[in-house]
Amino acid sequence: MKSTGLCSCAAALVAAVLVAAPAWAEPSAEGVTVTVAPAEARPGDPVLVTVLGSAQTPKGKAAGKDLSFFAVRGGHQALFAVPMDRKPGELAIELRGGLPRQVVPVVAHEFPAADVTVPDEYANPPPEARKRIDDDNRAIRKAFGKPGDPPQFRGDFKQPVAGGRPTSPFGEQRTFNAVAKSQHLGLDVTARTGAKVKAIGDGTVVLVRSCFLPGNVVVVDHGAGIASAYFHLQLASVVEGDIIKRGAQVGRAGQTGRATGPHMHLSVWVPGGFVDPATFFRLPFRPPVVEPAPVPDAVSAGAVDPAPAKKASYKSRKKTTKSPAKKKSAK
Ligand SMILES: [Zn+2]
Repeated sequence: MKSTGLCSCAAALVAAVLVAAPAWAEPSAEGVTVTVAPAEARPGDPVLVTVLGSAQTPKGKAAGKDLSFFAVRGGHQALFAVPMDRKPGELAIELRGGLPRQVVPVVAHEFPAADVTVPDEYANPPPEARKRIDDDNRAIRKAFGKPGDPPQFRGDFKQPVAGGRPTSPFGEQRTFNAVAKSQHLGLDVTARTGAKVKAIGDGTVVLVRSCFLPGNVVVVDHGAGIASAYFHLQLASVVEGDIIKRGAQVGRAGQTGRATGPHMHLSVWVPGGFVDPATFFRLPFRPPVVEPAPVPDAVSAGAVDPAPAKKASYKSRKKTTKSPAKKKSAK
């Protein structure tokens, strides 16, 4: 059994650092500045559009969908997900009101593959478990907010665990017990059992649930259609409805559900879909227009009983596969 030594993602993360850092700005005739980050995107990356110097809320489209801008200090920002099945090429961001059209190059990316061994019930779930999996996925999706919701977060987001080392990357194509396939729609980082898991940004706890595959789950809505989901928790430290600050403890790390060992799984949802948290954390979110009123710290309550530990193993494959646009369960 290899619990968390999943190092296959290292190269992909380094690549993400390189592409996420730069951004470019184009001043328009009216002195309005439009910035897009990252300068290059991969399928499954979040893209942040910043419009500064315009009093009016900008409007526009990206990847065929309306952008929903929220006010920030000096202007507005909007976020969208590059679809997982997006082919390499230019992705256009069309802004109205005479603002310059932006283009984000989408680069080719192959998601790595991994073979994972888990107890049979997690690879071949019985019918009652399949229903529970469907219910879990519906509940998680339903918990995510809408793009037009007012932002609750303030500026940048922060990592959920201190010193967590990435082990299993976003988008990994996994084969469980050589039969069940799914794509990893989050980022795994090392965390010992019981380690504090902290909210990546200010928000509202919208779901606390014991799920079949992701185990004990907490979902935090950050407003503006952005949500974070914390999986496989040993226990939850918050209850639905709690209004929490960035860094507030939402739970303790564990290995409940389909997990090969104790670790922290983070999924990040933005308008358009799940995105790579590694890229998300590097986006230049601006501070809010005005400091919101202070919110109370999370109330520690509603702990969920941890599920018994399961024997499982994980093995990264050297081989990689192209990224198909598979609709799959959140896990
Ligand atoms: Zn994971």
